[in-house]
Amino acid sequence: MTAEGEPTGRGPGPARGSATRTRFAPAPTGFLHLGHVANAIHVWGLASTTGGAVLLRIEDHDRVRCRPEYESALLGDLAWLGFEADEGPVRQSDDDAPYAEALDRLREETLVYGCDCSRATFEAWARERGRPWHGPGCPGDCRHRALDGPVLRVALGGGSERWMDSLVGPCADEVASGGDPPIRDRDGNWTYLYAVVVDDLRQGVDLVVRGRDLLASTPDQIRLGRLLGRDVAATFAHHSLVRHPDGRKLSKADGDTSVRESRAAGRPAAELVGEAAAAVGLIDAARPIEATEVGRLFV
Ligand SMILES: [Zn+2]
Repeated sequence: MTAEGEPTGRGPGPARGSATRTRFAPAPTGFLHLGHVANAIHVWGLASTTGGAVLLRIEDHDRVRCRPEYESALLGDLAWLGFEADEGPVRQSDDDAPYAEALDRLREETLVYGCDCSRATFEAWARERGRPWHGPGCPGDCRHRALDGPVLRVALGGGSERWMDSLVGPCADEVASGGDPPIRDRDGNWTYLYAVVVDDLRQGVDLVVRGRDLLASTPDQIRLGRLLGRDVAATFAHHSLVRHPDGRKLSKADGDTSVRESRAAGRPAAELVGEAAAAVGLIDAARPIEATEVGRLFV
């Protein structure tokens, strides 16, 4: 396994300030793997250095792919690893009202519109013009067509957002660079982007710790949070990803070893935590690390 980009979290690094609450937020769509362990190390490690509590949030907004058996498996595996949340678990499926209320708020500002563009619509637009769709809106100009759906998009307004990422440094990027993002998909599920922005706001999450594969969605999240009434954006910390030597992301579908399998094979939890820490460059070579000790990797 190799890490993407520069190692993060070693040495003094950028100032991390203080936090009141961060979250570990897995989706119950499969078993935890080494990438989740690397994320947990950063979540609990940075929480301990910033004084924040860890909320465990089960991100089950996608009703098609989420399974109760994966949720019980991930809770069991997390406990086995030794990562103990201060609050939770809370589930996105526990209460739909916050998402519906946030939708009402956006609708009052006439920022929500139905859209019937599919991936094929975007691809056809790009083929005709020799360049991909760029910027707010959608190829069908659906904001001006008074559609009910099937997808709901939010007009974020374009422009750009800047933020100081605790692990990456100063960042700035365009808002809605690939089109206005969907907030509800054609199956009627709230989207990842929408659900996490609503959750982080209502749950008082002020430190968002996650992998660099989500870095590009940060400007949209910051903007959406502001449109929903968030005065101060959360602090973001995007860490390196655990990858195969050829650069591929870890995937259960590719047969990558899950925490569950390592556990069944009799490996100690501390060994797995150490392997994940080494895979993202937090330590030079794997050695056993107890989950309760990961804060030491960030001081
Ligand atoms: Zn459209």
